[in-house]
Amino acid sequence: MIFAKIRIVLVALAATVMVGELHAQDLMARQAPVDRKLKSIDSLALQKQIRAEQSLYPGLDIYPVWTNKQVNAYGDAIVPESYTFDLTGFCMPTTNTRITDIFGYRPRRRRVHNGLDVKVYIGDTIRSAFDGKVRIVKDQGRRRGYGKYIVIRHDNGLETVYGHLSKHLVVEDQLVKAGDVIGLGGNTGRSTGSHLHFETRFLGIPLDPAKMFDFEKQDIVADSYTYEKKTKAKTSRAVAAGEGIYYKVKKGDTLGKIAARQGTTVDRLCKLNRITRKSILRPGQVLRCS
Ligand SMILES: [Zn+2]
Repeated sequence: MIFAKIRIVLVALAATVMVGELHAQDLMARQAPVDRKLKSIDSLALQKQIRAEQSLYPGLDIYPVWTNKQVNAYGDAIVPESYTFDLTGFCMPTTNTRITDIFGYRPRRRRVHNGLDVKVYIGDTIRSAFDGKVRIVKDQGRRRGYGKYIVIRHDNGLETVYGHLSKHLVVEDQLVKAGDVIGLGGNTGRSTGSHLHFETRFLGIPLDPAKMFDFEKQDIVADSYTYEKKTKAKTSRAVAAGEGIYYKVKKGDTLGKIAARQGTTVDRLCKLNRITRKSILRPGQVLRCS
């Protein structure tokens, strides 16, 4: 009887300390009579472990899934009205200071740039911006998309993306600290000239990295950054996070009508969007109005 009790305690200890490890499983296999008791201990230990992980990664309770597949894997996630990210534990991803392209909608290319481009040279050290866990390490090919890229989910709730790398130096699911070297700068993917394409995302939503990181000064803009859902709702979906006010062209719209409705002039619309008075508007086209 006493032996049995000691055994249970021993097994419980082993289960707590070595959840999921072979050693503990071996021990369990030899303890068939206490199997049922073990199961409850096992799930308790597991719950404890999950709670410990969640306290390590506060972002985890906001993100619905952990996946190594897509950058934005959170289509049905519930996005809070506002969320404040603690930026104090940061490290600049690169010591380079020259911004070569900013975040937001670019009318000329009719594309949204989801990140910030910073000049780097092939082989330059790229570091994790905060503590976190590497979610994706992938290669989209020589000419496609991000090329070699890395996505990290951080303890503060942000996710960062590092694109066009020449080399990966971390693996998926690896824990990293702010400042850990994660890869080397490069020119892979859809890129002309070596640079780092750097994104900051919240639940898949791209946020302007320049509102958090000042590459020129090699510092954070403030100790924290607050995401507000309203800011997003104000502008149209396609241009979620740019500066200025945008308008999505509807059937039957003319430059004159849009200008009147937006309180601006046709000339100003033409200048902002680099179009002429004779340009044909397509429904769905996004125009910058201010
Ligand atoms: Zn870019």
